[in-house]
Formats: sequence, structure tokens, C-alpha cells
Amino acid sequence: MRPCLLTFLLVTASAVAIAQPIPPAGGGEFVFRSAPCISEELRTSIVQMLETNMSTLERAGRIRSVPAGATAVLLDWPLRQAAGVTDPGYYGISNYVDQDTAFPGKVLDYNCGTRSYDQASGYNHQGTDIFTWPFPRYKQANDLVQVIAAQEGIVIGKVDGNPDNSCALCATCNWNAIYIRHPDGSVAWYGHLKRNSLTYKNLGDNIAKGEYLGIVGSSGNSTGPHLHFEVYKNSTYTLANRIDPFAGPCNRLNGTTSWWTIQKPYREPMVNKLVTHFAPPVFGTCPDLETPNERKVFLQGDTVYFAAYYRDQQQGAATQYAVLRPDASAFASWTGTSPSTYNASYWYWSYVLPSNAPTGNWTFRTVFNGVTDTVRFTVNPKTPTAVLDLPGDQYIRLYPNPGKASDPMRIDWQLNGASSQTLDIRVFDLNGRQVGGTQKVRRSGEIEMPVVPGSYVVEVSVNRRDSHRLMVVRW
Ligand SMILES: [Zn+2]
Repeated sequence: MRPCLLTFLLVTASAVAIAQPIPPAGGGEFVFRSAPCISEELRTSIVQMLETNMSTLERAGRIRSVPAGATAVLLDWPLRQAAGVTDPGYYGISNYVDQDTAFPGKVLDYNCGTRSYDQASGYNHQGTDIFTWPFPRYKQANDLVQVIAAQEGIVIGKVDGNPDNSCALCATCNWNAIYIRHPDGSVAWYGHLKRNSLTYKNLGDNIAKGEYLGIVGSSGNSTGPHLHFEVYKNSTYTLANRIDPFAGPCNRLNGTTSWWTIQKPYREPMVNKLVTHFAPPVFGTCPDLETPNERKVFLQGDTVYFAAYYRDQQQGAATQYAVLRPDASAFASWTGTSPSTYNASYWYWSYVLPSNAPTGNWTFRTVFNGVTDTVRFTVNPKTPTAVLDLPGDQYIRLYPNPGKASDPMRIDWQLNGASSQTLDIRVFDLNGRQVGGTQKVRRSGEIEMPVVPGSYVVEVSVNRRDSHRLMVVRW
């Protein structure tokens, strides 16, 4: 994508001008295609499995009968980000429960909308589909979104070991799933989990509310990573016994009684994530992982792609974007307006940092739907920098060199070629001891150098050959 040079010139020429609309350099809708989630054959076998398991657990005295007048449980949100991941958002909803049981019939969600679908060969979508966004396959591969128990209960079914990278309809594919019976006798199904990510807990074991159950995956009849969350009022798995946890005017199951502790709104417009990229993100073709091309550290003169990843962006909704220098002055500011309504969408703009851009911590900021989100990135001096030039636009670079304790020295790289390419970086002190390094197969990334002041030798090799040594100094 060509950098928006013209845009940059306009903005610097009038640094305090009112932000103007600027069309994005790229982006669009992320379409999460619907799949029936469970074929009717699979549904039948799941129900048989759960009935068999319940008999076993009842005989073993592990199932408590529900006291008369027991209050119905409330459900907490069944997903969370992995520890240390603090993106503003990480999911979107592609399908609610289809309230219209005729097939082929019309699609009707609890809010009288059409965010659901009819199953291809059976009834209707019987659960809520929550997909992860952005970079769902990358998130799955890196265990970034966890499925957790919406309510305490006992494990009455657990299936693991099935392939978890489905990309298309696959009626015969079984999913990885866990089934929990709550104290009021209601049952929740958690489906499409990542293979071998499921909790160690087994049949008959107790699960606490909020306990880890697995990682969002794409096992079974699925087009991409998502959680299929299906709830029944008791352990008879009929259409009439289903629950749609979302209360609303077209909920024909439990009407205006919400099963959520806190029911989320029908649409939750927000920025899920702000990213500074060194190249536009590559979404690839399922099951290949997306290549986010994210970077937090740039050099003067670099091109930066500023991207916002949204859920529930609605037609006409405006966002104010700004790129702020270390002194908080605006390097660029502009507005964007959503051309349509999306479950998930993203947009990016590119700017070239001037060769004399102030170094330090910069900020990319959005104001959307009354909420301000920010992400920081660092601009380092272009020189002095040890640069290892490789063919094409590949590089391995080390900067700043020399470095300071207050200004972390880093090595970053971009390699094209096959994804099986290996990059070995080894850092030695002057006594020949290895004090850092990494082996990477990713096409891009960065590592931070040891923080102890001193002189080091960095050895870089690509595919275990083409070895290069660099002398670096920090104090
Ligand atoms: Zn589903």
C-alpha cells in the first residue's frame, strides 16, 4: 500500500487544523461466515453421550437433585483474555439463538433482528456464536482468549482430541467441547474448543464460576475460531428446553427473563484493538495464521500503518484519530466514518515519519463512541544504527547503537521467504558467554537486548548459515 505522502504534507502544513475526514488506505469488513456448528448427527450423539454420562454420575451419587424452588442461576460472560493481555476488546457476536424454529424459515434473534441463521439441514441455530477479533487464528495459536465457566457446576461431558482448525462446513467433524450442569439443573455447552486445551477436570468434577475451561478454537463444523455457547433449562435437550440467555422482545424461550448476570447490549460498538503496523496486516487464508505485522518500535523515516479494529461499528459512526508526538502535539489527526454496519471491521491509514521526527514515545489515539483508546509506540533515531541488509525488503537491524540504559536497545527483523525460515540471534558478552538471544521462525518480530551496561557481540544467522557478527556497546 502506498504511503499517504500527500496527507502527511497537508497535516504538517496546518498542524492545529480541525481534523478532516481522510479515506483509509485499507481495511473493511471481517466476515465471520456462519456454519451450523453442530450437524444433526453429531447433536444426536452428543445427547446420547450426555444421557449416558448422567446415568453413570447419578449411580455414583455425583448428581444432586435440584431442590424445589431453587433459584435459576445467572451466567457470567464465558470468555476472557489470557493473563497480561489488555486489549480493550477481543470478541464479537456473529450469531444469536435463532428464535424461529421453522426450517427453512425466517431468521429471528431475541431482539427481533436477524443476527442468526437457519441450519442447513435441520432446525435453527441453537446457541450464541462469539468469535475472537482481531486475528482469531493468531489468537488461537497463542492461547490469547480463554473459555471460562459462566456458572459453577459439574462436568457432565468432555470431548477433546479433535482437529481444531476447521475452515469450512464439515458435517462429520466432531468438536472439542465441555458440558457443565449448574446447581439449578440447567446445562451449558461450550463448543469448538482448541485441541488439547481443555481443563484437566473430568466427568463428575466440580467447576467454579469463572474457572478455565479451554481456549477458543475452530474444532468441528466451523469456519473459524469461535465459542458456540448453548444453554438448556435442564438435562433434556429438546428445542423447547433451550434457553436464550439474552432477554428481549422476540425471545420466545425465556422472554424477558435474562439469564446473564449483566446482559450485554445487542450491539457493543467499540475499538477492540489499536495497532501500529510496519506493513498492512495479512489475514491470509484459513487455516494459515494471520500475520499481524505489528510493531511498537520504529525509526525516523519509517512508514507506520495506524489501524483500528472494531466490533459492532455502525453505519455513520465517526471516529477521531490522532497521532501524537512525544510532547503530545498532533503529528496527524483525522476523522473516519463507518460506511456500513459490521459485526467486525478494521481500517488503517499510513504515514511516513519524517527523517527528523522527534524520538521517544508517541501515541496513536482514537475517540469512538465516547471512549478514548490509546496505544504507544517508540520512534528511535535512524542513526547510528547497525543495519544488516538482506535481499529485497528484508532486514535485521539493531538500534540504537550505542544504547543507553534508559533507551532499550533492540533487534528487529523482517524476513519474507518461507515461513519455515529460521532466524537465530545469539548475544555474547566479551568473555564469550551467551547472555541472550532467540531462535525465531516468525517473519517479523523484535527482541530487547540485555540491560546490563557493557559491550556485546551479536551473532545473527538466517537458516543456520549466513552468519553475521555485530559489535554493540551500551552503557
Ligand atoms: Zn454456533
